[in-house]
Amino acid sequence: MIRIGKPFIYDDGEFAYLKAPVQISSDTVNAYMSLESRFKHVHWRLYENYPPVEWQDDNAGLWFAVPIEYKDYLCVERGDAFVVAMLWYAMVTESDIECEAPVSEKLAFGIKHYLVPALMKEEKGYKRHISLICDTTDIPVANKSAVGTGMSCGVDSIYTLDVFSRPDIPEKFRLTHLTYFNMGAIFHPNRATKKVYSMKEFYDITDKMSLEKLQNAQAVANMSNLPLLYVKSNLDSDYYRGAYGDTGVYRNCACVLATAGLFSVYYCSSGGSNAFDLSLDIGSEYYEGLLCDVFTTESLTFILSDYDTRLEKMQVIQYNKAAQQFLDVCFCFNSCGECSKCLRTLVTLDIMGSLDQFKSVFNIDKYKKNRVNVFVWLLKTKDLPGDDGIHAKLVYDYALLHGFQIPPEAIKIYEWQKRKKNFKAIIKKVFGNIV
Ligand SMILES: [Zn+2]
Repeated sequence: MIRIGKPFIYDDGEFAYLKAPVQISSDTVNAYMSLESRFKHVHWRLYENYPPVEWQDDNAGLWFAVPIEYKDYLCVERGDAFVVAMLWYAMVTESDIECEAPVSEKLAFGIKHYLVPALMKEEKGYKRHISLICDTTDIPVANKSAVGTGMSCGVDSIYTLDVFSRPDIPEKFRLTHLTYFNMGAIFHPNRATKKVYSMKEFYDITDKMSLEKLQNAQAVANMSNLPLLYVKSNLDSDYYRGAYGDTGVYRNCACVLATAGLFSVYYCSSGGSNAFDLSLDIGSEYYEGLLCDVFTTESLTFILSDYDTRLEKMQVIQYNKAAQQFLDVCFCFNSCGECSKCLRTLVTLDIMGSLDQFKSVFNIDKYKKNRVNVFVWLLKTKDLPGDDGIHAKLVYDYALLHGFQIPPEAIKIYEWQKRKKNFKAIIKKVFGNIV
């Protein structure tokens, strides 16, 4: 059982906090901790102080904090933000949620009748559907009719900004605010997954990185003449300790619902993969459209930004001034030019002829020196299954369609490596048969 008490607001002069007591029963905590063996792909940080001793404190609870000038927009009259924040935790541990504050009727209805039945299937090993125990209300939360979207400076968020701030977008859907949420989105600084950091070191590092990224988000907001709302939360450090990929959309929507006094529309930037799947064992972006529908309340509509591929988005944002200065796609969070996301972006920009416009983001000289190897990487990756393969194939097809000349040396190396691989496979088969 997860019990969420009545939310309340306080401030420390700099930040205003929306907080609710959260009690998680020991069987739920034990169930959560035992999931480490099942969710191999998530980076759990349960190896120190979990469940946190802080939970025993009478003042313990889940909080969302905003700069004090946004205090009036914190939504204290609903339990929505807290329920959405803890929902994945509840589902994977098969634990009911009891919420003292009323929950928006539409949201409670969507969770009960759509989301829980869709995700907690018997064939996936779930024995029962969880219940949300709370009062509901259909009275809309008063808001300022603001229209927001998150600004991580990635391809998806800059594309959403580009499209939905254009003058042809109707006013009630045109962006008025950007947001930046610090609640666990930066989760894998170097070596972080190898458990070499203490909890304090880990969160100090990620907080510092998050604040650096906040500066970039602020710069993009300034370039776009839009205010930036910063929200921070202890959702990761005191509760989830990982599984960001599985819970990203839940967390983003929870932060927006915490500030429901501001927004009437919020765009969730799509992950750009266009793959759809329904499972608690995969990233929440695979069913982000469903989450947007379910988390919509009587006063706040979540809209999935688009169904475009990253390649289509790149074709637009290659001309975007904010992208040319602040694009941030790197797995290592430092535009390394070596990880698959950097390589994919660089090679796409090269094929589109926009490489030099992104000098402020990437080390273009380093890329040019290594150009042949990057194209070998593209040719090899397009043959692979999974997201990387899908993206690489799209980029490769785009290059062919637009008559782009892939470096002949790269094609030669790729074909030679492919022949070598096939030959090895044949030898193995033959000798395998003899043995
Ligand atoms: Zn990188």
